[in-house]
Amino acid sequence: MRVLIIGSGGREHALLWKIAQSPKVKEIFVAPGNAGMMNIATLVPISVEDLDGLRQFALEQQIDLTIVGPEVPLLHGIVDQFQEAGLSVFGPNGQAAQIEGSKRFAKDFMKKHDIPTAHYQAFTDAEEAKQYVRQTGVPIVIKADGLAAGKGVVVATTLGEAELAISEAMEQKVFGSAGDVVIVEEFLVGQELSLMAFVDGTTVVPMVPAQDHKPAYDGDLGPNTGGMGTYSPVPQFSEDALSLAVQTVLEPMVQAFQKEGIDYRGVLYAGLMMTPEGPKVIEFNARFGDPETQVVLPRLTSDLVEIMIAVVEGRLRADLVTWSDEAAVCVILSAGGYPGPYQSGLPITGMVNQLDHRESVYHAGTRYEGSQLVTAGGRVLGVTALGENLQIAREKAYSLVEQIHFPSAHYRKDIAEKAIQYLAQIQK
Ligand code: AMP
Repeated sequence: MRVLIIGSGGREHALLWKIAQSPKVKEIFVAPGNAGMMNIATLVPISVEDLDGLRQFALEQQIDLTIVGPEVPLLHGIVDQFQEAGLSVFGPNGQAAQIEGSKRFAKDFMKKHDIPTAHYQAFTDAEEAKQYVRQTGVPIVIKADGLAAGKGVVVATTLGEAELAISEAMEQKVFGSAGDVVIVEEFLVGQELSLMAFVDGTTVVPMVPAQDHKPAYDGDLGPNTGGMGTYSPVPQFSEDALSLAVQTVLEPMVQAFQKEGIDYRGVLYAGLMMTPEGPKVIEFNARFGDPETQVVLPRLTSDLVEIMIAVVEGRLRADLVTWSDEAAVCVILSAGGYPGPYQSGLPITGMVNQLDHRESVYHAGTRYEGSQLVTAGGRVLGVTALGENLQIAREKAYSLVEQIHFPSAHYRKDIAEKAIQYLAQIQK
């Protein structure tokens, strides 16, 4: 098979690594890709937003399967366009991807179909939103309706912060039209869990869970980022708790899509808050999470391409998806300053080409300047290690991190700490 992967982040590098292992695959292209992928795939300089260019490339190159990594092309209807051209493509169509593209759509959908989520109110008028916040009080969560690159959510602990967030989104338009509608949402208390599933329109097969670390600094301090590290499994949550999330969130969602005539095929990602009343949805994504994918795929023991074809063809089965009992930890190395302004073009040295089953450095924001690898983004590398347990996986991941260098490199030192503390406590 000839496969095309669309995207250029750590998620796509992990997808590429896994897909390259499939005996079904002969050649892989990535558009536009990054410096870490050049040894395994042919990079194609087409932007993820150039849908016509991507479709033309897939037709010309007789691509057998296209895998869409990021959300933007999904929302722009890349899957619909590829299907119309007779191309096989993994990901939800534009209508189904609305579950990520519009928070109001997602919230209204969940409310209509009784999927557990935070109470909310949607506003198109800033003054009304502020009035509502004054009545309900803090803490409260303010969310821009549309895509805002992970920056459209503010957890406000004072009225001032809440009103500022409303004003920035709705009056100052810092997220453009993504802030025309704002959701004001109940603050949920609990630990977060990322639960992804393969969905073929009717059948749901959950993946192993992961926990992300969104804030930039240790101890969950500082501004929210795209994610500073992940681990899997998440021992704080029992098998029963995970089954409950599948039964109360993922399965009813797919039944609801069917009722509404929405054909959902691809990955459905539920960002959950595990509250004392059970799992509640914080958000849905219509694709693999980044960096969750960097710890989930290394634990997948079956053929990802076979799973993806089954999803596309509507014949997914649970026995196609098998997992290793091992633990995985991923530590993100970011440019100093991220998620605020940061420098690019900084030389990277050390173990940057490590890519095997046990220890992998997934590239995100990297490129070559001549023969020198340099930084080219906020999140630069994702360092993942597999081990018998989380403790071992974490030690291995951090020891690999120490062998990679670039000026101003930043990483969190407490990835998986919550799980390790939990394990120490139950052993007492
Ligand atoms: P999101 O972009 O929707 O994933 O939100 C970013 C982060 O904001 C989440 O990972 C949570 O930490 C936090 N958050 C979002 N919604 C809520 C909520 N209703 N209650 C508490 N925290 C939330």
